[in-house]
Amino acid sequence: MMRFDIMTLFPELVRGVLDESIIGRAQQAGYIEVNAYNIRDYSEDKHRRVDDTPYGGGKGMLMMAPPVYNCYEAVLADGRGNAPPDERRHVIYMSPKGRVLTQQRAVELERDYDRLIILCGHYEGIDQRVLDEIVDEEISVGDYVLTGGEIPACILVDCVARLCDGVLAEAVCYEDESISCGMLEYPQYTRPYEFHGVRVPDVLISGHHANIDKWRRETAEALTAQKRPDLLGRGKEANDCDQN
Ligand code: SAM
Repeated sequence: MMRFDIMTLFPELVRGVLDESIIGRAQQAGYIEVNAYNIRDYSEDKHRRVDDTPYGGGKGMLMMAPPVYNCYEAVLADGRGNAPPDERRHVIYMSPKGRVLTQQRAVELERDYDRLIILCGHYEGIDQRVLDEIVDEEISVGDYVLTGGEIPACILVDCVARLCDGVLAEAVCYEDESISCGMLEYPQYTRPYEFHGVRVPDVLISGHHANIDKWRRETAEALTAQKRPDLLGRGKEANDCDQN
């Protein structure tokens, strides 16, 4: 079972997202474990301060190294009794300086690790010394800057968790989807048959499975060529559909 430990100044923010819907149910069913640790609880300051001004000047505040490091040590200690001795751990800092998250990287993370420890920055970021000491990898969710690492952490957990056994009904649920299958997914329709004068394509109600598969493949290719031609050359393997 994959365990996700999120270190953050806003645990209720990540809990609010990850305790809902499919990821929330996956936790309840024991397919994954998600813990949120409040870095502020590990402050050494009597006012529970966690940030200070940057050396050398500059605007904004920086998260201090000691509370982050103390929190990290507490995370490691928490559940040590239950963890297998050969537990494969990986510490990730959500950062705009990191490699941009892809489906392929999510597949590798699910395959290669039992426990992801995810650090969320806030304000102007985190003192470099603690990052250098504890972080294995920096991951960005895109070439833009957010106010904190919490939303990126939720994106990462959601993306990796849905690849874990039991979280979705079948592997085909994610293997067939956009990006994973090396293309964008074909358009989908459900009831009602007619909506605002538009009917679903005839082939989908024909009951002819070979024709339906052909239509889906051709529509997916056309859509990909139109919206994401860069995906077509990469092929399925580049997006690691088969995960091995
Ligand atoms: N001063 C930092 C810089 O220029 O690289 C940006 C700090 S940002 C305002 C605050 C925090 O939000 C970061 O420490 C990081 O955890 C998170 N963050 C912001 N943008 C992100 C992104 N694109 N991907 C992942 N995390 C991001």
